[in-house]
Amino acid sequence: MYTSNDLTRASANPLPRTPATTNSSNSSRAIIYPPIPPRPDPMRVTIDENGHRRLPFLSNNPLSVDHERVHRYITFRPYAAKCSNCAEDHCSCDFTEHGRPCSACASTCRPDCDFVNPYGFIAVLAHYRDLYLHEEFKHLRAAVEAGQLASSRLDREFERAAAWFYSGAQGAVTLFLLNHRATDGMMLRGIFHIVSSITDTGLLTQFLAVMHDKLHPAAIQIIVDRLNTIYGALHN
Ligand SMILES: [Zn+2]
Ligand SMILES: [Zn+2]
Repeated sequence: MYTSNDLTRASANPLPRTPATTNSSNSSRAIIYPPIPPRPDPMRVTIDENGHRRLPFLSNNPLSVDHERVHRYITFRPYAAKCSNCAEDHCSCDFTEHGRPCSACASTCRPDCDFVNPYGFIAVLAHYRDLYLHEEFKHLRAAVEAGQLASSRLDREFERAAAWFYSGAQGAVTLFLLNHRATDGMMLRGIFHIVSSITDTGLLTQFLAVMHDKLHPAAIQIIVDRLNTIYGALHN
């Protein structure tokens, strides 16, 4: 969960020490609320020519994946909910970071945990950005109204805030990909490793009977393939 402190400007770039000018055009200039989300909105997952999903490119100046702000983004959820699989199965669910499946999905080899869904992650990241930018704009507007910031600098400062956000968001995108790469298919490979070492068909059949309605079909297939391999070897 985030707190309102996460979105305050205290952690962002300090406002420049540029006193507002006192000419009348500055004070009378209307403050226009900028479009949030900014347009064009870079926060979207695209499909490349090979049919692969591509996460957005957000910044040339990304924060490293171990930066505190990247951690805040990769663990951000606007509300704590179970993944769809756990909600459906009425089992407990644990969220760690975007890009990593919950324990229940991981241990049953389900590849479709909500927490590894790039569309869900980018939607959450965009939500965080929009909350942040609304807060940021309110802060900047208050600074203009208090005479601490020239209104002519407001647009520039708002752009600076957005770039500041995107530098952290780009680090979070990289971390999402790393998390997904590190965890994707790991349990399936583990199941393969375990059953490959078992030669007792009775044991494997029992394992199949116990797990057939719990494991993902891809994992069940690994056990079935192993049984077929052993039976094939016995009858040849
Ligand atoms: Zn879950
Ligand atoms: Zn899950």
